[in-house]
Amino acid sequence: MLEYDDNNVFAKILNKELPCKKVNEDEKNLCFEDINKQAPVHVLTIPKGKYTNLETFVENASNEEIVTFIKTIVKSARDMGVLSSGYRVIINSGGDGNQEVPHLHAHVLGGGNLGPMITKT
Ligand code: 5GP
Repeated sequence: MLEYDDNNVFAKILNKELPCKKVNEDEKNLCFEDINKQAPVHVLTIPKGKYTNLETFVENASNEEIVTFIKTIVKSARDMGVLSSGYRVIINSGGDGNQEVPHLHAHVLGGGNLGPMITKT
């Protein structure tokens, strides 16, 4: 399993070394606002377990962790008021995915038309 970096910023948010603007929280997941919003609504949903990315999560997390993570993504969209208007969920993973923070997180974006899924170069 890819080694987890205990000093990553989301680990620090989870252990309250760093603040966050919380949207919702339960026993296994936390959702908070992204510090550098890319859309009017931009929140991050993370599992509380030490999972570096999507594949380490799927390979090692319990079914309960996996199910509640997905449910929390939808809850976060609901809490932010974008369920009916539409939203986008992004999970970046690894180098080509441009993942910056090595703790699994799902971006939930919305609050306006988000345009094409990726910008073609
Ligand atoms: P990634 O590129 O890894 O998918 O996304 C990482 C996200 O974490 C970025 O959107 C970035 O703005 C956000 N981020 C980085 N550091 C912090 C922080 O200290 N607090 C919060 N709330 N978001 C952060």
